[in-house]
This record gives sequence, C-alpha cells and structure tokens, in this order.
Amino acid sequence: MKKELNCDSCLMPIKQRDELRTVWAFFKLRPYHRSCYENSLRGAGLVGTQPINGFSGNFTALVAFILAWLPLFTNISPVLTIVGTLIVLLRLYSFIRFEKRLPH
Ligand SMILES: [Zn+2]
Repeated sequence: MKKELNCDSCLMPIKQRDELRTVWAFFKLRPYHRSCYENSLRGAGLVGTQPINGFSGNFTALVAFILAWLPLFTNISPVLTIVGTLIVLLRLYSFIRFEKRLPH
C-alpha cells in the first residue's frame, strides 16, 4: 500500500504534485500544501523560505548547478562548488522523497 504524504502544517494528505510545496525548514525537508505554505509559513516569519520544488526551486537548482562549475575554471572559492552541489542534491532529494510519489 502506498503511504500517504501528509502536509506538515494541516496534517491532511497531499494528493497532487501541483499542491505540493517542499520547504527546508528547521533542518528538515518538509512537505506542505501550496495554500498552507502561502498562508502559514509566510505569516510565521519564515519570509525568504523558498520552496524547493516548483518553478523557483528548479530555477535556483539550475543556477546553483552552473555556479558550482565556476571554481573549477576560475579563481572563485571552491565553497561555491560545495554550496551549489548541496542545493542541487537537496532539489533531487525533494523529488525522490516527495514529488515522485504524487501524480500530476
Ligand atoms: Zn496543508
């Protein structure tokens, strides 16, 4: 049996990938409904907490992926590679852990 994916805010199941917003908060990747994310998270003082999935998350991961390569060819600190790789891995983790289980 497929385990249900429950919203970390209202504890109701999330049915559609469209409804899902994954957010890195309090040292854990958490699934939320899109509406719960918009209503409660922003109100809770977590302004600036970007969702990992969705368009902005994909865009961030793409930019991080490109930036991660820069220190290999320039004098930029290799910290950029580490941070960029972590962002890309977090994006992949969100997909494997949550998004893959939900229908479109
Ligand atoms: Zn919810």
